[in-house]
Amino acid sequence: MSKGLLLVVSAPSAGGKGTILKEMFQQDEQLRLSVSATTRQPRPGEKHGEHYYFISEEEFQNLVNSGNMLEYAAYVGNSYGTPREPVEKWLAEGLDVVLEIDVQGGAQVKKLMPDCVSVFIVPPSMTVLEKRLRDRGTEDESTVRKRLETARQELSHAEDYDYIVVNDRLEDAVEDMLAILRSEKRKYARNPGVIQKVLEQ
Ligand code: 5GP
Repeated sequence: MSKGLLLVVSAPSAGGKGTILKEMFQQDEQLRLSVSATTRQPRPGEKHGEHYYFISEEEFQNLVNSGNMLEYAAYVGNSYGTPREPVEKWLAEGLDVVLEIDVQGGAQVKKLMPDCVSVFIVPPSMTVLEKRLRDRGTEDESTVRKRLETARQELSHAEDYDYIVVNDRLEDAVEDMLAILRSEKRKYARNPGVIQKVLEQ
């Protein structure tokens, strides 16, 4: 069985990646989402084990120290990390895996697993981003400001990614993401056995 594809997706906070990914998961049943661990407090409606594993700083450090985090980073005062085991298991089963992580984590994964495909989702403008962040209404003013400042810094890393997708219209962004996934999967490097199969038949 060929190994699945690892898709690293980064976007500034409130950049709309959650909605895009939700659509992608509805349209591609081979796709799995890695559920991250975080020390941040849950937002209303967020469920433990579904949106994140909400854990204490001590539990987080234990996971890091025991080598159970594929990558991890601090973001606006909290820790976030990707539990290693489910990702490795799905990839070995030939399933494609999405990591929804920040730019620091993205850089770590690219080093560790150079075969991964990275996509940066950008908002059409900072004005739209600010509006989305405020409309969400889940953060206080100082956090909104910090997240906007972080977004500016993150955007300066967007060009390190393999692809940039502009999230203007949702349907277009989803289509772009699925097209990237399909074209990357078609590449020879992802199908090392393909020539052998042609020769054998
Ligand atoms: P939020 O608090 O808005 O859910 O996430 C804040 C930032 O942390 C987002 O950029 C999100 O992509 C990132 N993030 C979420 N999970 C992880 C993770 O496991 N590792 C890293 N490095 N970043 C993460």
